[in-house]
Amino acid sequence: MNTLPVSAFSQEDEFVQVRGAREHNLKDVSLSIPRHALVVFTGISGSGKSSLAFGTLYAEAQRRYLESVSPYARRLFHQVGVPDVDAIDGLPPAVALQQQRGTPTARSSVGSVTTLSNLLRMLYSRAGDYPAGQEIVYADGFSPNTPEGACPECHGLGRIYTVTEASMVPDPSLTIRERAVAAWPTAWGGQNQRDILVTLGIDVDTPWRDLPQETRDWILFSEEQPVVPVYPGFTPEETQRALKRKLEPGYMGTFSSARRHVLHTFANSESASMKKRVQQYMISEVCPLCHGQRLRQEALNVKFTGLDITEFSRLPVSEAYERLLPYAEDRYPEHAERVKNAPSEAIALQRMAADLARRMGVLLKLGLGYLQLERSTPTLSPGELQRVRLATQLYSNLFGVVYVLDEPSAGLHPADTEALLEALNGLKRGGNSLFVVEHDLDVIRRADWLVDVGPAAGERGGRILYSGPPAGLQQVADSQTAQYLFHAVTPDRHEPRKPTGWLELSDVNLNNLHHLTVRFPLGVLTSVTGVSGSGKSTLVSQALVDALAAYFGHPVQPDEEEDDDAPRSRTLAKLGGDLGQLSRLIKVDQKPIGRTPRSNMATYTGLFDHVRKLFAATPLAKKRGYSAGRFSFNVNGGRCPHCQGEGWVMVELLFLPSVYAACPVCHGKRYNPETLEVDYHGQNIADVLAMTVDTAHEFFADEPTIGRALDTLREVGLGYLRLGQPATELSGGEAQRIKLATELQRSGRGGTVYVLDEPTNGLHPADITRLQRQLEKLVDAGNTVIAVEHKMQMVAASDWVIDIGPSAGEAGGKVVAQGTPTQVAADPASKTAPYLRAVLG
Ligand code: ADP
Ligand code: ADP
Ligand code: ZN
Ligand code: ZN
Repeated sequence: MNTLPVSAFSQEDEFVQVRGAREHNLKDVSLSIPRHALVVFTGISGSGKSSLAFGTLYAEAQRRYLESVSPYARRLFHQVGVPDVDAIDGLPPAVALQQQRGTPTARSSVGSVTTLSNLLRMLYSRAGDYPAGQEIVYADGFSPNTPEGACPECHGLGRIYTVTEASMVPDPSLTIRERAVAAWPTAWGGQNQRDILVTLGIDVDTPWRDLPQETRDWILFSEEQPVVPVYPGFTPEETQRALKRKLEPGYMGTFSSARRHVLHTFANSESASMKKRVQQYMISEVCPLCHGQRLRQEALNVKFTGLDITEFSRLPVSEAYERLLPYAEDRYPEHAERVKNAPSEAIALQRMAADLARRMGVLLKLGLGYLQLERSTPTLSPGELQRVRLATQLYSNLFGVVYVLDEPSAGLHPADTEALLEALNGLKRGGNSLFVVEHDLDVIRRADWLVDVGPAAGERGGRILYSGPPAGLQQVADSQTAQYLFHAVTPDRHEPRKPTGWLELSDVNLNNLHHLTVRFPLGVLTSVTGVSGSGKSTLVSQALVDALAAYFGHPVQPDEEEDDDAPRSRTLAKLGGDLGQLSRLIKVDQKPIGRTPRSNMATYTGLFDHVRKLFAATPLAKKRGYSAGRFSFNVNGGRCPHCQGEGWVMVELLFLPSVYAACPVCHGKRYNPETLEVDYHGQNIADVLAMTVDTAHEFFADEPTIGRALDTLREVGLGYLRLGQPATELSGGEAQRIKLATELQRSGRGGTVYVLDEPTNGLHPADITRLQRQLEKLVDAGNTVIAVEHKMQMVAASDWVIDIGPSAGEAGGKVVAQGTPTQVAADPASKTAPYLRAVLG
């Protein structure tokens, strides 16, 4: 390890000293890292950066904090595990701002995460304009999530959900037996309701429309829940005879009208797919009382700058800021009058407006001014959410803390990265330390101190190649980061390919795009660029994808978790051009490959099916009669009965978020002991799940089917992942690359359009080069690749660039420049051009 002595970091106590760190792949490393500095951890994916920054430093800070607040936590750490490190000295308390893994379950918005909504409610309550004679509304009364505030008609949802005969009985020519009441459950539940109606003497073999209206209304809308004897399998006549003779029934059944079933399931079911099913039998409309504003009329009467609080929360933050500024600076028209009539209220208004404007100013600086307070956090990209959280930290004025961040530049155009660095320096000047895992060369160059981990991924990484000021890394021969940082590896230069045709998307009207027309070349690799919030994702991941999906007549992967209460009514853009060349659309996005620790890379890619077959074919498995199913942790049989194959159990903590701990019975192995006795070449099924892709590749060398699957995973830079790594532990970028690898195995047909959203997230420049080759293979096989992209290395190597802008939100949404990378780099109107020129050289 090379360490340069530097006078600026001379005092011992200014350093965090780590001794003997062995978490995950770390090779018993020791190092000193300065405090009150911007420290950047670099290295290729899987080298061990996160294991050091999050797994060791942050985990240890967290452990000490929990121990200090909760004696119970001490016991818990025996189960959860402490970081594997001999000692860490000089470690301040830590706050982690991690890219979110999986999706948040809580429903939150930009306003609630930043606490700006609370402040805004106080402002409306204390200093809003009330109609003459109306009493003051307390701050809670401005929240649709409280009984005081919620509109009584729609309970704060802004929409009401109703059912009608037509919505629940789509085809009235069917009989009840033929499932006329489509809204009732399928399978047994529906049969049960039918049998109950038979007992009640209702004709289930007459077409629905010929039944008396009174009967139909009762079946659909009754609140009554009679409990009656049911004779399953009996004809109506047999049932009536059995009732007369008072025969013993099969069971007692409870009637539930179709409306009751639909509304109850929608309100109470835990299952997203059940909800989705019943939702199709409901009609939703804007609430007639609050017109979608979600609040009681008293609250909506209160105005500030002429807007009610809902309207104000729907402004872009940049515009809200502009409206607040005059009040923060006491230079609004009615100022003198207010001071005279209500002096204390005028002072309160000034203070609250100033506080709000100051906090909103931070969001503006981080390039987030285009967001609205009302914007729900699940619709934000992970990078945006991380910056929203960062903004919240920036104005909370903590001192002496270390902030541990995961690739904060993700999703940022190089022009926005400047502002991010400024914000990080603000935290540093405030007396804090910053530990940042990053791949972006601009951020790496601006670090006070670099910790480079490597040289390769997984077992072949985990060493500290360098720890010191950036300049010194140049001397480190085996650092891949040094290659890209100092030797300007030029992107694979090639003549841009000639498009085989064009796709024209016209009249796009969505978010900040208005009547936009864009042409996409076919048979080539296109990068869509632009500052964050300019409209790239709206154009590519939404408008283009929706239009193509409609053209191909299939929805893009059913997004069962797209949990919008109010389905967005999108008007489709028009699609034209050489559509005949296309046969299929594949959207490769960053959504998790699963929501529970049950799904993992091996199951998702189909690889695990082959592995289980190998185990079932071993002599011991055959002798015992174990089939491939025995080696699944998703069904009963071979799995650990205690954790039902999850390997983890949830531990509830008083006052603290609950945590997962290894299952005490199988110790995280997921299987029962008998299953684990079966081995393939000396390794049992749990051992295989614990292997990294790289290790498995050697282990399964004589199995070509498995080998091919593993090869593609390595090609997209995932050789370091463990086969059984739960879906919930994967980052968005990793999930996207797993999907890409799965697609690469299937490809070969040509005519497919692949749509990707920032595929380079989380990738070291060295990994980007490999990913690029994979995408080029797809193009060379006759497919079209369209990617939203910020990394100039990737943009420069594309065949075509479409630059959206010029700025964010309503100040963006236009095509600023388009052409080959060289053409766009020369365009004076494009904010991307200077950065592209720098890479093209
Ligand atoms: P980086 O942050 O540089 O991409 P990581 O620190 O995430 O790398 O991973 C380094 C190595 O540790 C990889 O081989 C990875 O598979 C392994 N690893 C990561 N998380 C875990 C875990 N929870 N358990 C076991 N191994 C892990
Ligand atoms: P980019 O991908 O270039 O960062 P986006 O397409 O995500 O930009 O956003 C463009 C504009 O549309 C922004 O003003 C953003 O706030 C808005 N927007 C994006 N998604 C939504 C949404 N789901 N609801 C409301 N506004 C949205
Ligand atoms: Zn309402
Ligand atoms: Zn278990």
